[in-house]
Amino acid sequence: MAKQEALKTAIQCRHYAMCKIDFLGTGLCPPAWDKHYVSYFPQGRMDIYAALAEGRIPVTRRLVDIAESCSLCGICDKQCYFVTELRPLTVMEALKKWIDNHLQQGLEITDPEADDLLSDLWAIVGQEWASHDPAILVSYAHDPGPFTGIQMPRYVVLPGSTEEVSQVVTLCQKRKIPYAVRGNGSSVMGFVFSKDGVVMDLHRMQDIQINKKNWIVSVGPGVSAFDLQSEVSKEGFRTNLAEPAALVCANIMCSGIFSTYSNAYGTAADNFVNAEFVDAKGQIFHLNQREAPNLYAFQHEEMPLPGICTRVDVRLHPKTEDEQGLLIPFAEFQDATAFARELSQRRIGLALAVLGLEYISTFIAPTVELAHKIKRVFQEDLGMEYAVLMIGDSYAAQAIKSMSEVTMDGEMMKTLILGLPKLVDREWQSLIQDLEGSQRPYETLLKSEMLPIIKAILLPSPGSLAASVTPDLQEFFAELYSRPELTDMVWLNDFRIISSRMGRDKHVVAFIVYVPLDNIPLIQEINREFQKTADEYGIKNDYGFLTPLDMGKRAVLEYDYYGDHTDEEETQRMQQAVMAIGRVLEDFMLRYPGVKWIKYVFNQGFSRKESFLYT
Ligand SMILES: Cc1cc2nc3c(=O)[nH]c(=O)nc-3n(C[C@H](O)[C@H](O)[C@H](O)COP(=O)(O)OP(=O)(O)OC[C@H]3O[C@@H](n4cnc5c(N)ncnc54)[C@H](O)[C@@H]3O)c2cc1C
Ligand code: SF4
Repeated sequence: MAKQEALKTAIQCRHYAMCKIDFLGTGLCPPAWDKHYVSYFPQGRMDIYAALAEGRIPVTRRLVDIAESCSLCGICDKQCYFVTELRPLTVMEALKKWIDNHLQQGLEITDPEADDLLSDLWAIVGQEWASHDPAILVSYAHDPGPFTGIQMPRYVVLPGSTEEVSQVVTLCQKRKIPYAVRGNGSSVMGFVFSKDGVVMDLHRMQDIQINKKNWIVSVGPGVSAFDLQSEVSKEGFRTNLAEPAALVCANIMCSGIFSTYSNAYGTAADNFVNAEFVDAKGQIFHLNQREAPNLYAFQHEEMPLPGICTRVDVRLHPKTEDEQGLLIPFAEFQDATAFARELSQRRIGLALAVLGLEYISTFIAPTVELAHKIKRVFQEDLGMEYAVLMIGDSYAAQAIKSMSEVTMDGEMMKTLILGLPKLVDREWQSLIQDLEGSQRPYETLLKSEMLPIIKAILLPSPGSLAASVTPDLQEFFAELYSRPELTDMVWLNDFRIISSRMGRDKHVVAFIVYVPLDNIPLIQEINREFQKTADEYGIKNDYGFLTPLDMGKRAVLEYDYYGDHTDEEETQRMQQAVMAIGRVLEDFMLRYPGVKWIKYVFNQGFSRKESFLYT
């Protein structure tokens, strides 16, 4: 029974790599600090347990070491529950028990023999940093993407320097063995696998050098967005980053990095001033060399990886002390989008986004159940469907308050977040029922004058919010939510620790499309097509967000499909839905300049945004 429970949890791992960063201040999984292989992180242990239970890997000495290195400290339970509501500790206990039994019964422990290629890899990186042990390989073999499947590599190698990356590439070329480059693997679309080949994991290369005078920070390919933002924020800066667990070099290569801050800071080549690469022949170049390959160019084609980025000099942006967040509620997409566009055109605000209710409720609620309930409260009781998020200075906030009757400021959001469980209580419902008049409820209720009444009803406190999570984690959540940053819109936008909750109910397949922002009916048509297609295949779907780009001329739109990746039949329907919407997007691209599916930006994230936004 316990084994089955553990397997059920293990196969649900989303592979968003949040357990690879210390985003809650709990510390990392202790053995992971110096081992670097994914197998020593909770995510890898989940894969290992599933593979053991399904009879896909033998017990090796390495596997014994991995299991024994877990101290059952429970850090992974806190981290994973925060994002996905999963409890990996049950898996860790089952893994240790499995190995204990195996050892006690004196069963066979295999040890794969080194071969030529492994010896050559060891000669480059040292014996510790290349392996062909199944317990290592299996954590580099799949993700929940609908088309990925299991793709077991033959070797995993962790180079420690640009020169080592270059030598590994040269070796793979010479031996004609395919290789894939891996950051934290959180792209989850099957990009980081090399069946029977080599996976190069860049996690060891974590150098960060801030050059305050020159407004840049040099970043190694193993540095995550969370760690980089933490370092530069200590110096009063921010960088334009997205998912906290995404490695910065990988994220630029993969998507160019789009975020709500892309409104002000741009995307793709706007994000950096220079970068170093190792090309497919093992040659090192940087983008400022006149004879370097032109990675700033963009072609409307599915392009191969142009090289391995081994360092990027990222732009630093100064922060001011009066920065704050506002949410402006709307009932209609048309109105919310036109408002966001106007702000962008007028250069009001740094981060801007039109958020849908699926994101708002999922991000602020600590459980799926509460998220469902408060989505309904926002929708049905308050009459709101969208909100424009703005992060900016006090001048931007003042301007917005003069443009909009209702704005939810930091204090209002903190009240709602910490009082969420009471939003579904009878007292709140009767307050809404008492409202009269022609306005939508949110237009009256969410006004700043109402704050004292809302506070009196919701009784917001860290303990009140914590009461909605599983009993044994309530104390931890109460402590967590007593930290100001957990309810601070600016911090939450900079560090984004709640956005991967979007895959909590079911794994998320995100569609990113660049769109012309002067044609809102077209954007609505695209949204309708997304919905229609997913509905046809019975796939859960919802609008995600839209952020203006290039001062409101273009925007980046996200629409999401959600599916249980452990359900074969649902995965098949997801595959069909993805292929069907792909055809629809191709058609939109043919008909409308300015519509571009991110599929074509993949591996071209170092290009100039103008080249893909205006073609
Ligand atoms: C919940 C969620 C939300 C997301 N939201 C956003 C968002 O708002 N904005 C956004 O931009 N992205 C977003 N993403 C996408 C994700 O951040 C990117 O795919 C990012 O690249 C993942 O980083 P990683 O280190 O895990 O990369 P990986 O998945 O390891 O690699 C991604 C790609 O980059 C290649 N690669 C890795 N390292 C290098 C390197 N050093 N040089 C060259 N190529 C390399 C890999 O081969 C692969 O093709 C989101 C993902 C998730 C799961
Ligand atoms: S319980 Fe084990 S796997 Fe989880 S964080 Fe602690 S040491 Fe790591």
